[in-house]
Amino acid sequence: MDCLFCKIAAGEIPAKIVLETDEVVAFHDINPQAPVHVLVIPKKHIAKVSDMTEDDIELMGKVIYAGKKVAEQLGIAEDGFRLVFNNGRMGGQHVYHIHLHVLGGRAMLWPPG
Ligand code: AMP
Ligand code: ZN
Repeated sequence: MDCLFCKIAAGEIPAKIVLETDEVVAFHDINPQAPVHVLVIPKKHIAKVSDMTEDDIELMGKVIYAGKKVAEQLGIAEDGFRLVFNNGRMGGQHVYHIHLHVLGGRAMLWPPG
């Protein structure tokens, strides 16, 4: 499948890996929107949150848990951080392999843009 994040998960395209398990990979975003901006993906290709099935519930729990571990590892857990899934066109999604944004190192705004 011609998917950028599948290729990163397979090691075919380089990325700055932060954490990796059998099922998930976390890597630095190439265009960071905060001092810390990491993406966590499942190695399994799921295009977006809307495409999740019940079979994916445990896997996506592991994605969120990896986000927590990334925050600890990069020293933003104490101060707080933001986890975001953009979903679909109106949600601002550009890469159609489900990913969790881990953003921190500055105060986040609300409402988001
Ligand atoms: P989204 O707009 O939610 O789909 O987020 C896609 C994210 O992927 C953006 O923040 C991009 O900067 C990031 N991105 C795109 N290509 C790469 C890449 N090769 N390595 C790391 N991050 C990437
Ligand atoms: Zn993919």
